[in-house]
Amino acid sequence: MLGILRGVIQEVSRASDLQTVLEIIVERVRDAMETEVCSIYLKDEELQRYIFMATRGLNRDAVGKVSMGLDEGLVGYVGERAEPINLEDAQDHPRHRHFTEIGEEPFHAFLGVPIIHHRKILGVLIIQQQQTRRFDESEEAFLITLSAQLAGVIAHAEATGALAFQGRGKPTSARFKGMQGAAGVAMGTVVVTYPEAELHNIPEKKAANIDKEVALFRRAIEKTREDISVIAAKLEDRLQPEELALFDAYLHMLDDSAITGEVVDRIQAGEWAQSSLRKVITVHVDNFEAMEDVYLRERGTDVRDLGNRVLAHLQSVDTRRKKYPKKTILVSTELTPADLAMVPRDRLMGFVSVKGSGKSHVAILAEAMGAPTVMGVEDLPIELLDGAPVIIDGFEGVVITYPKREEKKYYERVAREEAALVEGLVVKADEPCHTKDGHRVRLWVNTGLMTDVARSLDRGAEGVGLYRTETQFMMNDRFPTEEEQRVIYREHLEAFAPRPVTMRTLDIGGDKALSYFPISEENPFLGWRGIRVTLDHPEIFLAQVRAMIRANEGIDSDLRIMLPMVSSTAEIDEAQRLIAQCYREIVEEGVEVEMPDVGVMIEVPAAVFQARDIIKRVDFLSVGSNDLIQYMLAVDRNNAQVAELYQEFHPAVLHALNHVVQVTHDERKAIGICGEMAGNPSAALLLMAMGFDVLSMNSTNLLMVKHALSHFALDQAKNILSKTLEMDNAYLIKNYVDEEMRKAGLGNIVRSRSHN
Ligand code: PEP
Ligand code: MG
Repeated sequence: MLGILRGVIQEVSRASDLQTVLEIIVERVRDAMETEVCSIYLKDEELQRYIFMATRGLNRDAVGKVSMGLDEGLVGYVGERAEPINLEDAQDHPRHRHFTEIGEEPFHAFLGVPIIHHRKILGVLIIQQQQTRRFDESEEAFLITLSAQLAGVIAHAEATGALAFQGRGKPTSARFKGMQGAAGVAMGTVVVTYPEAELHNIPEKKAANIDKEVALFRRAIEKTREDISVIAAKLEDRLQPEELALFDAYLHMLDDSAITGEVVDRIQAGEWAQSSLRKVITVHVDNFEAMEDVYLRERGTDVRDLGNRVLAHLQSVDTRRKKYPKKTILVSTELTPADLAMVPRDRLMGFVSVKGSGKSHVAILAEAMGAPTVMGVEDLPIELLDGAPVIIDGFEGVVITYPKREEKKYYERVAREEAALVEGLVVKADEPCHTKDGHRVRLWVNTGLMTDVARSLDRGAEGVGLYRTETQFMMNDRFPTEEEQRVIYREHLEAFAPRPVTMRTLDIGGDKALSYFPISEENPFLGWRGIRVTLDHPEIFLAQVRAMIRANEGIDSDLRIMLPMVSSTAEIDEAQRLIAQCYREIVEEGVEVEMPDVGVMIEVPAAVFQARDIIKRVDFLSVGSNDLIQYMLAVDRNNAQVAELYQEFHPAVLHALNHVVQVTHDERKAIGICGEMAGNPSAALLLMAMGFDVLSMNSTNLLMVKHALSHFALDQAKNILSKTLEMDNAYLIKNYVDEEMRKAGLGNIVRSRSHN
């Protein structure tokens, strides 16, 4: 059974359009289950009807012509109940309805299962037989399993539908839903970026010059042949002759009569070498993987490796410089911080990432750059998009490919309104933030790159609540030296002096990787992260802390050091011992500097409950709500699949935040918050009411938050907070706070900036 399942899924995944997908399913399911009929009905959301889309065994002329209401017939019944309906004789059932055109009369046995994707019914898959009998349990289980797996493929094929355009004229506009990465709208031309030497990510493109493309490909094949011969020669005395024969087999595969010939044919037809190679290799891999024989099935992996090897050569012999259109929208399967710097800023309009969510680090960096970004667009057919015109809507998290004129007009209006909103903010950058009744709130910024500095100062940042030092480490190809770090830290301190700058010690792990220090873990967010890594590598920690303290020498700056991902007091004690050691050494070296304040981030539930023990040891606390929420709610901040469960307004989160503020103030110390939550104006209102001394955010949101807070008196905000603390549901809380914002005349800000 598993073999059949795998075969169907593979064949279907390879199909280029929805109708082919459906035809394969009905054909293969009918054969595999040895029934007389297999049909698929898909739900048309606009018409609110089930459409008869594909069949084997019933009248194929009726395909696309017959449809039924959502509450009609047995198909409607399966959809309504969202569970399988297994009937000995369908014609006896009260919900049975006769559709003459389909030709169902001779069939009695009926098994229908819903096709469900992300809680949504996409359609119904049905098998039927003339005989009067109940399908047995294993048949039912098989159909359910198949339908559950096919749902994703069908959803993707539906979404891709309008883009399956090869050879069929101009593609039509299509909408793909993801989630907000960074607010704003942008229009431009897609450039797909992909990790090098990963075949499955290669986008489809036209060959600019067919002869050159063929020559390039042939050079890559020659280099691959050389590699294989060298490896075979090295292994000659270590392998048996039959094992060595495998290398000959690889060389044969690269012959003109096999892979090379097939790829060249595709290039001659106008496609560039890289995606031609991808397609040819995929067919060969699939053929192997569909085989019953385990040994042959595993050869699929060899072919994939061979393909990747050719690709690597293809990419290294291709030295043509990448050109970016004037308005580039960079699209990637998984955007990385290095991708953000790839396109010259004057050509860059925005980003799209198929994976990840709004709280991924890369989205946070994109927001800091002020570049509209959409994350988690899982159904985006990225391989077809290079060069396509698109609109991205970073407010709603939507990507529109090949937009229509009306869509362009609509988004031009949205962009104008957004610009007017920013211009219309009543607050000034150089005035401090205070409520209607004069209560002062400190608004600081989160920084990472030097480019953040000017933007932050322009917007009136009163300090830096979080300097993500790892950004410098991530852009490098080795650990920066103490002196290299000192120079950069000093620039930061000087730029903001005399304002406070909170430097966080290196926070890698989770979704922040260093190419030169790979960490490979099953569960990285619960693994070796933040302070855990640096305490295990005191040489890295000491060099960084020394660089920070030395950077502060002789200037009127205010350095604070902050420790990330702390989950026990022992970690704090150890870190403080190392910091004290650095300070002592530096003073002994004759440098005159002050001992900086040291603080701890509250990012782990354990730290919430131990906030009192923690604050007694240090000078300040700062809540990292991005991580705290993911750990409290057990929702991976990077996973688009569960992004709806990532809720800033979750009652448990609000109570935790309120608690840490109270405990810190009991001890007469200060507490800030530096997660993305502080930059959401509705959430900022609650945070101010809780008593946070500092709200630190992306500079992009600073004026908007200042504007929003200036519309409330402190008591009014406290009232709103105490009502929310009585509520037990995140949606209710969010709606209530948004409504209060609207009442205060902030409807436009809620519309553009309030997310969950
Ligand atoms: C946080 O977790 O809220 C935080 C500010 O740190 P980062 O987003 O860099 O993990
Ligand atoms: Mg964090």
